[in-house]
Amino acid sequence: MSITTVELALRLLTFLCVLVGAPLCFLVGFRLLDYGAKDTLVERFSGARTGRDTGQLNAYFREAAVEATTCSICGAANGPDYTYCHTCQERLD
Ligand SMILES: [Zn+2]
Repeated sequence: MSITTVELALRLLTFLCVLVGAPLCFLVGFRLLDYGAKDTLVERFSGARTGRDTGQLNAYFREAAVEATTCSICGAANGPDYTYCHTCQERLD
């Protein structure tokens, strides 16, 4: 069984699309995720932020009126029994 030149060209084209398209999809997706992780983009869609990101536990501790230890490095609130900051892993004193 032989194939025509057109069929051969079509097969080669498909092969090249798969060969180039799959890594390209990965690269573009990776770049999009990388771009999405930038703080400026997050700020644009979540509204103005008052300060540094101090973690979700700050709001929880404020809401629950739990005595929280504030990290001196990043400002995140940590539970009273925490030895290390849950955000930056700095030792709490
Ligand atoms: Zn910290």
